[in-house]
Amino acid sequence: MSRREPRLCHETDVQLPAFVAGEFDDAARAAIEEHLAYCSGCQFKWRANELVWRCLAQCDDVEPPSQLRRRVLEAIEALKELR
Ligand SMILES: [Zn+2]
Repeated sequence: MSRREPRLCHETDVQLPAFVAGEFDDAARAAIEEHLAYCSGCQFKWRANELVWRCLAQCDDVEPPSQLRRRVLEAIEALKELR
């Protein structure tokens, strides 16, 4: 019988955005949920990630400013001239 190494907080932290987005399979999700069950620090970050995800889901699509494309292309051309 082997005891599993406790999941590290920094490992959980970087995976929380994908976790709340539902991008993990059952095994990966279970591993994160196991850590969240006992780590209050990661629970706090998880709830913050969920809040951000819910806010993003409620956002309407935003039309970019009409001049944005031209300004980006001009900036790219300016960078090319510097080379
Ligand atoms: Zn943790």
